[in-house]
Amino acid sequence: MIILRSSFLKGVERMPMGYVDLHLHTTASDGVLSPSEIVRYAKAKGLQAIAITDHDTIEGCEEGLSEGEKIGFEVIPGIEISAEHSPGSMHILGFFLDIHHPLLNERLAYLQKARAERNPKIIAKLNQLGIEMTYEEVLKASGGGQVGRPHFANVLLEKKYVRSFQEAFDRFLKKGAPAYVDKLRFTSKEALHFINEAKGVAALAHPNTLGMNGYSELEKLILKLVEEGLKGIEVYYPEHSAAEVAQYKTLAERYGLLSTGGTDYHGIEKNGLDIGVGRGEMKLPYSIIENLKAVRNRFSSAYAEDNGFSRR
Ligand code: AMP
Ligand code: ZN
Ligand code: FE
Ligand code: FE
Repeated sequence: MIILRSSFLKGVERMPMGYVDLHLHTTASDGVLSPSEIVRYAKAKGLQAIAITDHDTIEGCEEGLSEGEKIGFEVIPGIEISAEHSPGSMHILGFFLDIHHPLLNERLAYLQKARAERNPKIIAKLNQLGIEMTYEEVLKASGGGQVGRPHFANVLLEKKYVRSFQEAFDRFLKKGAPAYVDKLRFTSKEALHFINEAKGVAALAHPNTLGMNGYSELEKLILKLVEEGLKGIEVYYPEHSAAEVAQYKTLAERYGLLSTGGTDYHGIEKNGLDIGVGRGEMKLPYSIIENLKAVRNRFSSAYAEDNGFSRR
């Protein structure tokens, strides 16, 4: 692992110029590369720009942005918020956030506090099941960022309680499993509110995890989200089938939403998926970012006018 990390830039196969990746995780949440490393990796790979979208945190953005400035590479400060939803899971991406916005920071601090209370409960449940694990071990596995279930899974794997990362979830950590503890989530309305307040552009991540039953159910949900402040749909995603991509693209066009895309890359060790290219099928043009910027500019000037500021 250590050898892999120190040499992660060696022999990188470059992509053709002009492509982007708008869904990436770093050590600030459950990714393997630090924000600086992921920025350097994206540049070495030949990408034109990336967005850092960690789960429920913007802690990696500042480092990513300053590394981008240092090496001359465009980095978009973003986030991926888990929202209340059933039967599947709803994640909402935010791009171009004002990372110093007070409401955004206050809402995220509240989520962190809830996580800090949840994690020891997971340890307690694992201990009750006869598993020897301390919170210190999990903290170490998290690399100093936000602690989440994938870090518990990695420790279970390291300590040979399971044979794979997936087995850790299936036997212990997934919803309904014996060491599962629910986490606090905002409603979509709350999440979209603070993303918009922080001048972010919000997009519905990987709609195929929502568990919606057919097109019209998904359409209804999207209409509700648009009313709450949604501006885009993550159409391009490695786990979307061609039919799903077509369906989400139709929905985006029908409702004037942006089409975004990204790989959800978490780190070099995960099953053949790579930044920018996914499993080889992704090619996301820079125009996606131009469209996001246009929406952001249109929207923030309208917002400023609403709030009594004159446009300059
Ligand atoms: P947390 O935010 O602590 O609830 O952890 C959520 C993360 O755990 C997700 O982003 C996934 O990476 C991972 N995850 C959640 N459910 C599963 C599952 N059933 N199998 C594998 N990984 C999962
Ligand atoms: Zn993740
Ligand atoms: Fe997600
Ligand atoms: Fe993600």
